[in-house]
Amino acid sequence: MRRLRNVKIVATLGPASSDYDTIRALFEAGADVFRLNMSHGTHDDIAARHRIIRKIEADLDRPIAILADLQGPKLRVGTFANGPVDLAEGQAFRLDLDPKDGDATRVCLPHREIFEALEPGASLLVNDGKIRLKVVTCGPDFANCTVEVGGAISNRKGVNVPDVVLPLAALSEKDRKDLEFACELGVDWLALSFVQRAADVTEARDLAKGRASILSKIEKPSAVKSFAEILAVSDGIMVARGDLGVELPVQAVPPIQKRLVRACRAAAKPVIVATQMLESMIESPVPTRAEVSDVATAIYEGADAVMLSAESAAGKYPIEAVTTMNNVAISVESDPTYREVIESSRRAERKTVADGIVAAAREIAETTDIKAICCFSQSGTTVGLVARERPRVPIIALTPLVATARRLCLTWGTTCVMTEEQERFKGAVISAVRAAVKYDFAVETDQIVVTAGVPFNVPGTTNILRVAPCMERLIYRSEPE
Ligand code: PGA
Ligand code: MN
Repeated sequence: MRRLRNVKIVATLGPASSDYDTIRALFEAGADVFRLNMSHGTHDDIAARHRIIRKIEADLDRPIAILADLQGPKLRVGTFANGPVDLAEGQAFRLDLDPKDGDATRVCLPHREIFEALEPGASLLVNDGKIRLKVVTCGPDFANCTVEVGGAISNRKGVNVPDVVLPLAALSEKDRKDLEFACELGVDWLALSFVQRAADVTEARDLAKGRASILSKIEKPSAVKSFAEILAVSDGIMVARGDLGVELPVQAVPPIQKRLVRACRAAAKPVIVATQMLESMIESPVPTRAEVSDVATAIYEGADAVMLSAESAAGKYPIEAVTTMNNVAISVESDPTYREVIESSRRAERKTVADGIVAAAREIAETTDIKAICCFSQSGTTVGLVARERPRVPIIALTPLVATARRLCLTWGTTCVMTEEQERFKGAVISAVRAAVKYDFAVETDQIVVTAGVPFNVPGTTNILRVAPCMERLIYRSEPE
């Protein structure tokens, strides 16, 4: 089950993808990371999906990353009694604090702060800005609106209030509970929604206490402004184009996407491009040409991962959506222009021994016929540095730590393989050869590059590079201890 592409695929799970067979089919079609959206579904639902992913991981003997996406201070409407409701232009629609199910005339908006901050004339944007409501009258627990732009509204759709500054904390009470729940369950990544400043990230990190890596979703104008500080304290980034394109003019999103993807690569931290990538595939088995082009653009830009939201969580064609991304990735990455773009955008600031070794590994792989760069890593840091080089050949991350293997599933070009603890370099080279052959990266007549830190088990010490033949008996004869 070797992936034939560098970019990773993140698939959000939901009602359309919650049983073993579907999730396994998504993985087999190419999903590398599963996203559990804490905004939807109960803790029981989340735990059930988590259990299924870990079962698939064990059955297939392949590490799989799980990303729990915290709702953050995102405003969402409540639920509807009889499914989606069509709002027509010009009709009245009421938002209030009444938790009863909604209908064609009203729905709950369970955020007291918003009613306190609203004023007549303010706009409310629902469902990624597709529906626009204008406040006519309002009070401390209601807003009577007219529908300016209509559309279908359904359970827990998001609400943005671009005209009003809302006094919201970075992590709601629900987020704190969800964060603890997800960490207890054992997730690899926590995504933070509506991050506004670096302090929001450090607050979550303090609560996670090392149990999960922190990914900041950039979807607020203030996060774009403070991006450098946010990146510095995050382990990864998501370009969350849905809310970003509502909070800012939609045409501001593509330049921001490009800038963020480059900055993340320079920082050797993974970046996901997310939202509406194959939106039409929620309803259709084939994507639009524009969507295919959008996925391709993110890949040409060098993003670590592309993401499916409703396409895989609630759409009619979740597996086809993953297959489409996989096919687009294979096509783009075999285009010579892709290599040109990736090479010309390499801007690594190299300062450490590890930086030098990974650059050398990449150059050797470009100079001669090398089948993979095999990288022994405890923390995963060196693997991130290899990925930043965007080498021509696959990266195999070898680690005894399952948490590291899972986390690196988000990293560009990297296949993660669990190994036993290493004691000697010779044994490590043999483990690397076995992994490269077992996972179809190389055959006995090939060569691989191996990097490691000796002595083993001291994080952050990568200091050795070896070009090794894949024939084990050659290693037994020639390898220094
Ligand atoms: P969401 O985040 O799907 O949780 O809203 C992604 C986005 O806003 O693009
Ligand atoms: Mn969002």
